[in-house]
Amino acid sequence: MLVLAPGREKSLLRRHVWIFSGAIADVEGEAAPGDNVTVVDSKHRFLARAAWSPASQLSARVWTFDSEETIDADFFRRRIEAAVEYRKFLKLDAPEGGCRLVHSEGDALPGLVVDRYGEYLVVQFLSAGVERFRAEIVAALQEVTGAKGIYERSDTSIRAKEGLEERKGLLAGTEPPNPVVIVENGAKYAVDVRHGQKSGFYFDQRDSRAAVAALSAGKRVLNAFSYTGGFGVAALLAGAEHVVNIDSSAPALKLARHNLEMNRIAPTRCENLEGDVFTELRRLTEAGEKFDLIILDPPKFIESRNALVKGCRAYQDIARLGFGLLVPGGVLVNFSCSGLMTPELFQKITADAALEAGVSGRFIRHLEQSPDHPTSPAVPEGFYLKGLATRIDL
Ligand code: SAH
Repeated sequence: MLVLAPGREKSLLRRHVWIFSGAIADVEGEAAPGDNVTVVDSKHRFLARAAWSPASQLSARVWTFDSEETIDADFFRRRIEAAVEYRKFLKLDAPEGGCRLVHSEGDALPGLVVDRYGEYLVVQFLSAGVERFRAEIVAALQEVTGAKGIYERSDTSIRAKEGLEERKGLLAGTEPPNPVVIVENGAKYAVDVRHGQKSGFYFDQRDSRAAVAALSAGKRVLNAFSYTGGFGVAALLAGAEHVVNIDSSAPALKLARHNLEMNRIAPTRCENLEGDVFTELRRLTEAGEKFDLIILDPPKFIESRNALVKGCRAYQDIARLGFGLLVPGGVLVNFSCSGLMTPELFQKITADAALEAGVSGRFIRHLEQSPDHPTSPAVPEGFYLKGLATRIDL
């Protein structure tokens, strides 16, 4: 049993699910990592049932606020059913498509991430609590979705914070093919679920790829931090004249070329540049190149509060370089997936970058993670991806 310090029950009363080590006054009885523990306030009143994670600063994550609810196979089946029903509501259940099926706190399953690639699921167990119930979770996923195969990609350093080793491999059913092919908004994408980044594909950008496609017809596009060329393919299928993809990962660009072929896009319409975006943007600037539409979708530049100032500077630098590479009337679409970057701050950084580049313009779209990555109202930290489309003046 976890006894909270006086006053530290406030966030739980507002249904937040994280309990930090500093909030805990006492641990009564024995509990192993991942065990279910009852959480009470300083007067021993029931607050929640949670998963114990002693290795982490985030020492417990709430499963339920209902004292009657038990955490067992049935509990996971109910929560997974709810997550699957929500994707049906979003119309993301086409068999040949893919989506994020379970988004951790956003689906009331802290630490569990499940992505669906057609008939296959890729799972990440990111907390001691979900690790403890991996067998029940895999069985429930199999039962609820009827997936052909379930593959684990818990090979992420986040697990170390929970005292867990990295793991990957087949959990149930048959091995997924390499690549798995999924269809999104009419585009085909090849995904390497074994070695790709995250679980293989950035589903969180689905709606933004559609937004970019809508701005692409007849345009010369620069897609920086392209990964497997998601934005590029969407733009080309929507009639972009030419796309330049830039990424530092050779395997990602190899799949980008494969994606062009699969979508029957002439290779002359797309150049794939392996390199560092900061260097390449400067080189293109010096070469006097110009683009109509530029996408900047970098990795997380801000991993912790200490990295905030430096990270902001990096976001501003690439946005400034991007603005400088636009023709008059061109559009910059820039993103930040750092949770510590607020939308207000991101807008300010983008505005400052435009000032530095000496351009004026309009914000024309505010973008965010696609709705299969929902945020729980009680856990606002789940909102992480924001983007801005800015059209500079003619
Ligand atoms: N836009 C992509 C996702 C981008 S993820 C999509 O929609 O699918 C970020 C990408 O940036 C990764 O592919 C990573 O390899 C690449 N990357 C990270 N740092 C880089 C750098 N300095 N220069 C070029 N690419 C970089």
